[in-house]
Amino acid sequence: MYDNVNEKNADIPKEEIERQRAFISKIKDLNDEFEKKYSRKKTMFISTFGCQMNAHDSEKINGMLKAMGFADSDSEKNSDFVIYNTCCVRENAENKVYGNLGYLKHAKETNPFMKIALCGCMMQEDNVIETIRKKYRHVDIVFGTFNLYKLPELIYTNIETGNPVFDIWREHREIVEDLPSIRKYKFKSSVNIMFGCDNFCSYCIVPYVRGRERSRCSCDILNEIKGLAEDGVKEITLLGQNVNSYGKKLDENIDFAKLLRKVNEIDGIERIRFMTSHPKDLSPELILAMAECEKVCNHIHLPFQAGSDRILEKMNRKYTKEKYLKLVEDIRNAVPDISVTTDIIVGFPGETKEDVDETIDVIEKVRFNGAFTFIYSKRTGTPAAVMENQVPEKDVKEQFNRVLEKLNPIVFEKNKAHIGKVFKVLAEEVSGSGADFITGRLEDNSIVHFKSDKDVIGKIVDVEIVGSKTFYLIGERRI
Ligand code: SF4
Repeated sequence: MYDNVNEKNADIPKEEIERQRAFISKIKDLNDEFEKKYSRKKTMFISTFGCQMNAHDSEKINGMLKAMGFADSDSEKNSDFVIYNTCCVRENAENKVYGNLGYLKHAKETNPFMKIALCGCMMQEDNVIETIRKKYRHVDIVFGTFNLYKLPELIYTNIETGNPVFDIWREHREIVEDLPSIRKYKFKSSVNIMFGCDNFCSYCIVPYVRGRERSRCSCDILNEIKGLAEDGVKEITLLGQNVNSYGKKLDENIDFAKLLRKVNEIDGIERIRFMTSHPKDLSPELILAMAECEKVCNHIHLPFQAGSDRILEKMNRKYTKEKYLKLVEDIRNAVPDISVTTDIIVGFPGETKEDVDETIDVIEKVRFNGAFTFIYSKRTGTPAAVMENQVPEKDVKEQFNRVLEKLNPIVFEKNKAHIGKVFKVLAEEVSGSGADFITGRLEDNSIVHFKSDKDVIGKIVDVEIVGSKTFYLIGERRI
């Protein structure tokens, strides 16, 4: 078995990418031979779990696999190469991966060419690797969050040896640039500005599986965005676990506010979004940049997680309820029409009904435009997992429902306030609700469905809002 579990920091020279390109070309030759012999291309299926960072990584995986000559397949069971890009933030996402692997075991028995690969955050957990080795022996390739760029080599090694390949690294300092990538949308794209996180919120597994904070140098980011703009991209989303601490460890004189101003100057880019923002690092300079940069969208996702100072301290969030409320006030003073969305966790260890009252108080005071609400999910290896007073499931459900009962009517009212107004909408795709409808996004990140031809996709058009639901708007195009 080719088995590389590297405990040390790894320095990856940029030339490494050239090595990987050589593996891509070797696999492409093999896939071309396969096509000649069987009169069909080898097919692949990528299944992505979790956040936008993973979605963006999957675009790179897609780019590499396409360069190797794989064609898309719409079903994993009929594919020759299946890859799960996993997430470990919540237990149910992990269970789904195990369930799917069980199902694929039978599919693999009927398709002798099928290879199964696993990557992403789950693969950085020792207990997961142990489980895969013991119970899911039909998996061919396993790698983690630090060595995505090595996928071509891992595939080639598996083909050559016929043995499973496990390649998990513990840490990674250098950022690898210029991976082939295929964007899901032609007109919008995400751009990583940093990787990892240093915050160690006590419930969160991310710092353990994504490593310490590493910012990309601004010239690489700006060059990438200029290239995207030349390629027709209008909207970019700057991605990082905590974009507000961008640049802290770089030698250059840069921070997130300065970066935003530089991105704002790039011709062709019309909309700039970013996520995620940690409230403790959101600076007055950033608020000013958001107000002054006309391309930065009037939306901020600002997770507050809990309203009780006692719980916030146990979560290691490093702000208080009062500071959070003041921050939202400052942002709204600077950008009056800004849409504020958030993340909320209910059922953190030791959280009482009175603590949840504080969360509800924040919801009432801020009146969020939207929120992702989560029931606390215990993650082995985090400090919160071993805290006393884990809250029983039935109590969490009750408190969770109280939060939703307060939140949803506010979100509904906020959506309703759009009715009768005309907004610029980036038309993104054919709507799931019917082929005549297009789904688009307002600058404030609200989703709207409106009737139009497909040729509008990728354009920014005027849409009047004529109806609203809790999670989306209904519009009519105005020409
Ligand atoms: S800021 Fe906190 S919640 Fe976000 S990734 Fe880092 S540790 Fe996790």
